[in-house]
Amino acid sequence: MLIDSHAHLEMAAFKEDLEEVIRRAKESGVEYVFTVGTEKKDWNRVLEIANSHPGIYAVLGVHPHNAKEIDDRTYPILKELCQNKKVRAYGEIGLDFFRNLSPRELQITRFREQIRLALELDLPIVVHDREAHHETLDILKSERAERNGGILHCFSGDYRMAQACLDMGFSISIPGTITFKDTGPFQEMVRKLPLESLLIETDAPFLAPVPFRGKRNEPSFVRYTAQRIADVKGIPFEKVAEATTNNALRVFRLKEADSGRCSR
Ligand SMILES: [Zn+2]
Ligand SMILES: [Zn+2]
Repeated sequence: MLIDSHAHLEMAAFKEDLEEVIRRAKESGVEYVFTVGTEKKDWNRVLEIANSHPGIYAVLGVHPHNAKEIDDRTYPILKELCQNKKVRAYGEIGLDFFRNLSPRELQITRFREQIRLALELDLPIVVHDREAHHETLDILKSERAERNGGILHCFSGDYRMAQACLDMGFSISIPGTITFKDTGPFQEMVRKLPLESLLIETDAPFLAPVPFRGKRNEPSFVRYTAQRIADVKGIPFEKVAEATTNNALRVFRLKEADSGRCSR
């Protein structure tokens, strides 16, 4: 069994064949998928998908790209939607200093606010950090986000940052980029990280792993990421599958029995 800890099934890329995509995921052993709604227009669609499919769960929040769209109504709406039992985490929230689609200062303010909101909702957080490692870590520390716990998704920091996140009780989610030929230092870092702290994700429809690099990504492809982690660590695939599954179940506070169709 595998868990894709981060995908965007609500996106237009899956509009035509979502049911097929979900069927292929289950056939590949991907029993759980966490689909992440990053802005207001997507939240209801995310909940609709999660509510109508066993094993699909929801994560809701405002992405740093959309920080500038937050207004007086945003948090009350999120508070209400997050009462849905299928919502297992708050996110993705954080900082994106690569694309800077919202002003940096505003991203920082909204990140802090949302860490606090997640704590109030008693949800772990899913953190997005792109080219803002130092600031992200600073904010997680100063907000005492270890009280939330959660995931650094699509992790791109270095070993030292990973260690600091693990020390705060966060987990690190590994994307398909680990299968790319040109990510040697990243692979070396993953080799050194304890398996007990790792999750796997697709971030579908983005970042498809080899042999699908450049194509649309989908949850069934998460097995290529698991296989690559097994290869760099020199351990069996099954061990990676089992550990990342258990980690995800722990972080998202789920019991295997919830899906009703797990193989073990
Ligand atoms: Zn992200
Ligand atoms: Zn994402």
